[in-house]
Amino acid sequence: MKIGGLEEITLIDYYKKIACIVFLSGCNFRCPWCYAPELVIPSKIRKHPQIEEDFFLNFLRKRRDKLDGVVVCGGEPTIHKELPFFLEKIKKEGFLVKLDTNGTNPKMIMSLIEEKLVDYIAMDIKGPLNNYKRYTLTDCNIADIRESIEIIKRGKTDYEFRTTAIPEIHKKDDFMEIGREISGARRYFIQSFLAKKTIDKNFLKVNPFTKEELTLFKKKIEPFVKNCEIR
Ligand code: SF4
Repeated sequence: MKIGGLEEITLIDYYKKIACIVFLSGCNFRCPWCYAPELVIPSKIRKHPQIEEDFFLNFLRKRRDKLDGVVVCGGEPTIHKELPFFLEKIKKEGFLVKLDTNGTNPKMIMSLIEEKLVDYIAMDIKGPLNNYKRYTLTDCNIADIRESIEIIKRGKTDYEFRTTAIPEIHKKDDFMEIGREISGARRYFIQSFLAKKTIDKNFLKVNPFTKEELTLFKKKIEPFVKNCEIR
C-alpha cells in the first residue's frame, strides 16, 4: 500500500474515538482547494516520502492500549485494489477502521461493508451533484456518487456525510440541494475551509465563511437530516 503520511493521534477525525490517521497516496479527483497536493498530484507524490506498510503496522502494535481506531484517508483510499487486504491487516491488530471517501467507488464501499472491514464511513459531498465536474475538474460519474450515498445510508455501518464549505464555490441554496441528495441521512457535518496548502494557490487567498454564514447553511440542511453539526 502507498502510504503517504501518518498522524499519530487525533481526537476529532473519528466520531467519539481516539485514532491515528493513515494517508494513502493517489486520488481520482483534482479539487482545486484540496489541502493535500502531495497525496494527489503524481509529480508531487513521487517526491513525497512514503512510509512502509510494515513500519505502520508496527506502529499500531505499540498503540493497542492508546488508540481505538485508524482513520484511513487520502487521497482517495478506494482507488487502491489492495485496500480490503490493508484494512483486514488493521482489523487483525484489533483496531476499528474509519474510511474517508469521495464516494467514487460504490462497489468497493459495498464490499467493505459486507465484509465488515469498516466500522465508520465518512463520505465527502463536494456540493450539489450536478456541479461535480466543476468541483473536481474530472469527468466524474455522478451515478457512482449517488449509488455510494444510497449504499452508505442503507448499510449497517455507522456513517456521516460532510461538506467543506468554501467561499467562491458554495452558495446558501447549495446546502438545500445537498440535503435533498442525502435526505434521511443519520449525520451531516459542515466543515469550515481553512486554507494552508491547496492544489490551486488562488484558494490560499480565500477567507473562510463566518460562523453566521455556516449557521445559515446548517438551517438549510437541517430539515433533511437527523443530525447536523458545524465543525
Ligand atoms: S479534496 Fe479529497 S477528493 Fe479532492 S483531490 Fe483532495 S484528496 Fe482528492
